[in-house]
Amino acid sequence: MEKCTIVVPCYNEEEAVPLFYEAVEETLKDMPIKIEYLFVNDGSKDGTLNILRELSEKDPDVHYISFSRNFGKEAAMYAGLKESDGDYVVIMDADLQDPPDLIPSMYESVINEGYDCVATRRVDRKGEPPIRSAFANLFYLIMHIIAKVDMVPGARDFRFMKRTMVDAIVDMGEYNRFSKGIFGWVGFETKWVPFENRKRVAGKTKWSFFKLFQYSIEGIVAFSTAPLVWSSILGIIFCAIAFAALIFLFVRALIFGDRVDGWPSLACMITLSAGIQLFCSGIVGMYLSKTYLEVKGRPIYIVKEKK
Ligand code: UDP
Ligand code: MG
Repeated sequence: MEKCTIVVPCYNEEEAVPLFYEAVEETLKDMPIKIEYLFVNDGSKDGTLNILRELSEKDPDVHYISFSRNFGKEAAMYAGLKESDGDYVVIMDADLQDPPDLIPSMYESVINEGYDCVATRRVDRKGEPPIRSAFANLFYLIMHIIAKVDMVPGARDFRFMKRTMVDAIVDMGEYNRFSKGIFGWVGFETKWVPFENRKRVAGKTKWSFFKLFQYSIEGIVAFSTAPLVWSSILGIIFCAIAFAALIFLFVRALIFGDRVDGWPSLACMITLSAGIQLFCSGIVGMYLSKTYLEVKGRPIYIVKEKK
């Protein structure tokens, strides 16, 4: 019988995991394929690991990997995909914000409609601060303009994939992982299923506004080199302006003589150009730092315990 592995990254989800397990068991009991769980404990500081141990004692189809510390959701998803061996793999959050009742129809689409992957996206952002939604939309707009992979607004990591696609993703062993981009980059036929935003069943979100901001910068650096080109173009534009100003000043000095005034404007120009220089070298530095981390070739995650 074919098998589907449900990969669940968990960080401090002791309250959510039992509810998650029960809800998924209940929803998928009539599925024509075998369902197996692979929880990834991403260095939780609460009792998540104990709950996973208990669950796996009770149910032989529950497996878990436990990290030596918190490596982040991206690392947890990568570990889950890598260690999974199902013919199909589903990635789901532990907080039931990804509705399990979509899974049967996702499976149908893969089997009957010939898709390699069925992915989900939120059609609304109910229960989210408007400023956060605005920034999220801005991020997708920027990505759409500058990145070569398509990123669907509101896309969740919740998706049903065939093994071939999972293998392709696992082959992308980059250290700076940005899954929303990686899913698009590997290609394959993807069907998008919209659904309405749900509230977390328990616990609270691990994302602060600042973390999300950092994450979006990571996404841009990982999937576009456009900022590097922009900074060069900006440099050229400023050279041209400076050159034109030089000629203007020279000609004016020839005609009217050289008067020493206008130093405030000079000061402004110096600060402006210094600011732009720092900004641009900051952009270069961002790419360099990512390259540095990549070159070191450190492992994406470290497993302490698994079953
Ligand atoms: N998560 C994780 N490692 C982290 C942060 C989060 O494995 O460092 C997991 C978390 O347990 C949850 C999923 O990633 O299952 C999504 O996290 P969360 O619900 O906090 O994000 P949101 O749904 O608010 O975007
Ligand atoms: Mg959540």
